[in-house]
Amino acid sequence: YKEVPSGYPEPGKTLVYDESQTIDLDNVSLHGGILTKTLSLSLDPFLRGKMRDSKIKSYSPAFVLGEPIYNDGVSIVLRSENKSVQAGDHVISNISAQLLICSFSSPWVQRIRATDFQEYSVISSESKWTVVENEHNLSWGAFLGVLGMPGHTAYSGWREFAFPEKGDVVFVSAGAGTVGSLVIQIAKSEGLKVVASAGSDDKVDFIRSLGADVAFNYKKQKTSDVLAKEGPINIYWDNVGGETLDAALAATAGRARIICCGHISDYNADKPSSITNLGLAVSRELRISGFLIASIWPKYEKKFYDELPKAVASGNIKHVVHETKGLEKTGQAFKDMLTGVTSGKNIVVVAEK
Ligand code: NDP
Repeated sequence: YKEVPSGYPEPGKTLVYDESQTIDLDNVSLHGGILTKTLSLSLDPFLRGKMRDSKIKSYSPAFVLGEPIYNDGVSIVLRSENKSVQAGDHVISNISAQLLICSFSSPWVQRIRATDFQEYSVISSESKWTVVENEHNLSWGAFLGVLGMPGHTAYSGWREFAFPEKGDVVFVSAGAGTVGSLVIQIAKSEGLKVVASAGSDDKVDFIRSLGADVAFNYKKQKTSDVLAKEGPINIYWDNVGGETLDAALAATAGRARIICCGHISDYNADKPSSITNLGLAVSRELRISGFLIASIWPKYEKKFYDELPKAVASGNIKHVVHETKGLEKTGQAFKDMLTGVTSGKNIVVVAEK
């Protein structure tokens, strides 16, 4: 991680592929930990927020300049000095569990470690990881996406904040992303009318294939026009913020629920966009809930793992994975994810096995 970006992170400037450090795989000391080879790494919008001036506080610490960035990833164990893990096992990191520890009990004191964006790692015995039991033989993209942090976000956030009622109209922005596409499918499974938006015609087709009743390209049709026709809306799942949130607020029914999951339209902007329709929260008795998945993850974890892996394996829950092959392409892949060039769960495949 070379430089704090202003605007979109530029490949080769913000993130640089650095071959200067090598590791002696046969002789490196493990000190009771494990030696892993990185297979797949997750690219998520929230990583942009970690590319900031380290003096600015937020729920997740800033990345450290000169060090690799890190996030959830799947690795294979090459050597282990820890009895609970064997060579050949696959391990997955869970950055949300670590955020939970870091944000709420010991703020800012801990450097969070997840999976570093590097080819090999020595992971100390104190670090948290989970050995993957891949009983349904699913892809690593599924583990990092629909079954990973974004999947938990959609599943748990809906259960905690949506309060769906028969006949409700739901609007989902960034509907072709991992979070949005799972929210659409959950809302449809509850028999609700779903309106969803995305930024290309291919993404709109994908959203339709998930069962959305109305799918539109927000770059071609104004969100406010579509919602005026299809609303009023009872639930808005907000992945985007800014103008889209404003249009959704204007289109609410009384006592609508607004679930503020993300505001990606602001992530690369100099300053957050202003929202003009917030006053409607009072007159329409809106319930506006912002959340971080880390804080509600434990409550729904068991139910999530009981239901979702089976549903994904059987095809009842659909998901898309976009793989970028090669760690050196991370910078471009990250920008493509943020700008919407690619769709679905974006991962970097560092090695196949
Ligand atoms: P996505 O794949 O949905 O995010 C990338 C997509 O965002 C792009 O493909 C693009 O789609 C869309 N996008 C980018 N810029 C804009 C813009 N200016 N206006 C509208 N859409 C834009 O990511 P996820 O599914 O992983 O996450 C969805 C949201 O949820 C994000 O905001 C993320 O930060 C948030 N999140 C929040 C969590 C929490 O704990 N609260 C946890 C996980 C995610 P398109 O082509 O359609 O424009």
